[in-house]
Amino acid sequence: MLMGMFSVVRMPEPLACPKCGESGTWKAQFKFGALDLVEYRVGQRLDWDYAWDVEGERGHHRVVAQGVLEGCPHCHAHGFEEPWDLVVIEIVDDVIVSAVQDTSGEGWWADEWRVLKD
Ligand SMILES: [Zn+2]
Repeated sequence: MLMGMFSVVRMPEPLACPKCGESGTWKAQFKFGALDLVEYRVGQRLDWDYAWDVEGERGHHRVVAQGVLEGCPHCHAHGFEEPWDLVVIEIVDDVIVSAVQDTSGEGWWADEWRVLKD
């Protein structure tokens, strides 16, 4: 779990839990945009009007943010070994266009989000 406030995205593809083996819809916590515990689906526009906290900058063309999966929707197991529970969320013109398990091989990024193209 990330420290402080965050946003949540529903993973568009089901994932099979490493512990119980059940497949289900997982959610990932990330920090970009308003950090008011907003729950997004892929295809939705990020909210920048925040009540509690905000991270990042609006208006970049292409951004990737790293997030972490919440617990298994079936057995509630969480805290799996990295990088299984790391995800990468791609944001184009402030719209979430994908959320997938992290294959960067870099573990936790020092920067929680990166601008790929201004
Ligand atoms: Zn499970």
